[in-house]
Amino acid sequence: MPPALLFALFNGAGRMGYNLAMPVSRMTCPSCGADLVYDSHEAMKGPDGKAICPYRGRGYPPLRAAHDRIYFGKWRKMDATATDFRRAYHQIGRHLKAIGAVLETKDLPAAKRDLGKAIEAFQQGDPDADSPDALRFLDHALSYAHTVIDDLLHEEGLPPHDPMEFSKWYNAVEVPFKEEW
Ligand SMILES: [Zn+2]
Repeated sequence: MPPALLFALFNGAGRMGYNLAMPVSRMTCPSCGADLVYDSHEAMKGPDGKAICPYRGRGYPPLRAAHDRIYFGKWRKMDATATDFRRAYHQIGRHLKAIGAVLETKDLPAAKRDLGKAIEAFQQGDPDADSPDALRFLDHALSYAHTVIDDLLHEEGLPPHDPMEFSKWYNAVEVPFKEEW
């Protein structure tokens, strides 16, 4: 076989292999709003051939999906820009409002206290305040939000929320930092 043909075959196969290895699909769940990226060969599919949202039937899907979208967002990565940070700040603000709306219907004083702490940290994380600790405060705010979601799940007799269980739906190549502040 002439070397040129061998090269063409090898190259063609390599490209094909690459394309077939990771058929990435995206979906926005119409039910909980989760914005998901996934390998269409691996995802569980319903009878309509569409991927089944991993939050479905898990308790508070919209709150969990919103939390994880922020948790796996670019703002927590090394190469985050000021824009990523500002976007995260607004996402966290909306997330805390959504949690607050659910809590209004509940008699869960501990969860309300945690939400209060989340809001306090959120306010200190305002990017316009130019605080060197803004990132740390926003991380705190998200962490308290997670605690409140866990309180809500606990009330329903459900296990706590573990974002890592959903990481593969967020193209989370780089795992966000997990240190305790
Ligand atoms: Zn969903």
